[in-house]
Amino acid sequence: MSQPDPALDPHCLFCKIVHGHIPAAKVLETYHAVAFLDIHPVNPGHVLILPKAHHPHLADLPDELSAHLASLLPRLCRAVRAATGADGLNLIVNNGMAAGQTIDHLHWHIIPRFRDDTVDWPWPQGEYVGDELGQMQFRIERELSPADDESE
Ligand code: 5GP
Ligand code: ZN
Repeated sequence: MSQPDPALDPHCLFCKIVHGHIPAAKVLETYHAVAFLDIHPVNPGHVLILPKAHHPHLADLPDELSAHLASLLPRLCRAVRAATGADGLNLIVNNGMAAGQTIDHLHWHIIPRFRDDTVDWPWPQGEYVGDELGQMQFRIERELSPADDESE
């Protein structure tokens, strides 16, 4: 994998944490990624994991880096579950302000969940009408490049 981009976005809080300019309770660190406790947890043990390089959204992430981050998730999930006694976990990535992203440096939330917790979930869901589902399938498939198909 290529070297992480050492450039720091001076406006990015998570870049400042990555570069040690702001403290954080780190639980895991590799050459390309870091995980630390969210300072305002949904439940205690709420962890954030992110690439060290500044990438705003998952859609911008190089495949190699994405694969590295994903490879750390099972071990991190096991650790959070064992440390908190959680009955379940939510893994969430908020991408874009409209989706609730407040810090513009891609990160996964790993949120411990308990059978009796008061977290307001799930969110409301809708339904497709007529051929809307098929049309949406067509539109998304059309946007996926042939190169994506070949890499499978
Ligand atoms: P987002 O809304 O962008 O998906 O999530 C940003 C998360 O970063 C929030 O859950 C918030 O509590 C957390 N956060 C904000 N500022 C800090 C901080 O200074 N340190 C840590 N560890 N987490 C932070
Ligand atoms: Zn950043």
